[in-house]
Amino acid sequence: MPFALYSRSIKAAALVGSGLASFARTRRSAEATILTFHGLSEDSEDQGILDWSLHLPVEVFRSTCSMLAKEYHVISLADLVEARSRGTCLPDNSVVITFDDGYASNYELAYPILREFGLHATIFVTTGFLDGVEMFWFQRADLALGRSQKELLDWKINGKKLRLYLGTYELRQQSLKRLLPELKELPDTDLLSEMDRLEEALEVSTPAFEDLPKAMRPMTWEMACEMSLSGHVDIGGHTHTHPILARCDVMAMRAEISTCRDRIHAEIGELPFAFAYPNGGTDDFTRETLMLVREAGFKAACTTVSGRVHDTVSMHQLPRYGSPESVLEAKATVSGAFETLKDWRQSCRKAMSMI
Ligand SMILES: [Zn+2]
Repeated sequence: MPFALYSRSIKAAALVGSGLASFARTRRSAEATILTFHGLSEDSEDQGILDWSLHLPVEVFRSTCSMLAKEYHVISLADLVEARSRGTCLPDNSVVITFDDGYASNYELAYPILREFGLHATIFVTTGFLDGVEMFWFQRADLALGRSQKELLDWKINGKKLRLYLGTYELRQQSLKRLLPELKELPDTDLLSEMDRLEEALEVSTPAFEDLPKAMRPMTWEMACEMSLSGHVDIGGHTHTHPILARCDVMAMRAEISTCRDRIHAEIGELPFAFAYPNGGTDDFTRETLMLVREAGFKAACTTVSGRVHDTVSMHQLPRYGSPESVLEAKATVSGAFETLKDWRQSCRKAMSMI
C-alpha cells in the first residue's frame, strides 16, 4: 500500500476508534456527502493492470454499503439537488453514491450489492466507451507500460526528459505514476497521437476492446438500461471520449457534452440530469465548461474536489470525496471526522499565532 494511503488508513482508524467520527456524525448531520467510485474488482492478481486505484476490491464496497445502510441515509443525487435547489431539508447524514466512467463491474459487482441493501447510485458514463468507439487514454498508457517487453524508456514530454524504468511490475507502476500527470497536461488534440507514439516506442499494439483486462471493460448499454429501469441507478453524463475538458477548445467541449447527452437519451430513453467532469479537479474544467453543461440541460454537475455539500454550494460544482480504501476510511469521510480534524488544526494554528 502506498505510504499516503497507509497513513490515511491509520488516521481513519484513529478517528473512528477515538470516537471523533461519532462526534462528527452528530455535529455535522445536516451536511450531505457525495462519494465517488469507479470500477470494482474481485481480485487484483494476474489481470495485467498497473493502476488498481480505479478498481476497488468488491468486499470493501460491500462493507461500505452495509455500514451506510445501517448508519446513514443514502439518497439519490436527484433528491440532493432538488432539496438544495429548493432550500428544503435533507434527511440527517445524507450520503450520495456515484460511479464514474461506466465499467462493466458497476453492473456485475456493484449493482447486486446496491439492490441487496436497497441503495441508490448515479453512474456517470463515458458514452464512447460504452459504444466501443474509444477506450480511455489512461487505460492505453497502463497497458502499454504493463505489456511492453522493454525494460527502459527515455521519454520526452512537456519539455521534460523522463526515464521510465520497466524492469519489474513495481517499477512499471512507478513509471506510470510519473507519466500520467504529464499526459494530463497535454492539449486534447495531442493526447491520442502521443499515445500512438508511446505505444510505438514501447513496441506494443493498441489493445482491442476484447483484449482489455476484465476490470477495465465497459458496461453495455443493455446493462445501463436494466439498472436505470430498476430504480436503483440513474445514468449521468461523463463526456463522449473522456477528455480533460479544460484542454479542449470550445467547439470540442460542446461536442463532447452534447454527444454524451444525446447518446444517453437515445439508449436510456431519458435525458440525463447530471454530469461529472472527467478528472474533475478545479483545473480540469473552465467557466465555458460550466456554461456549456448548463446549456446542454444538465441540472447539476459533480467535481472531484473534496468537500461536504453545504446549502450554499453551486449545483454545477458539487464537491465529491474519492473512493474510500476501507470501511474505516468511509466512516471517517462520511461522518465529517476528517473535516472536523482539519478545522481543529486550523483553529489551533490560529490560536498559536495569536500567543
Ligand atoms: Zn472519469
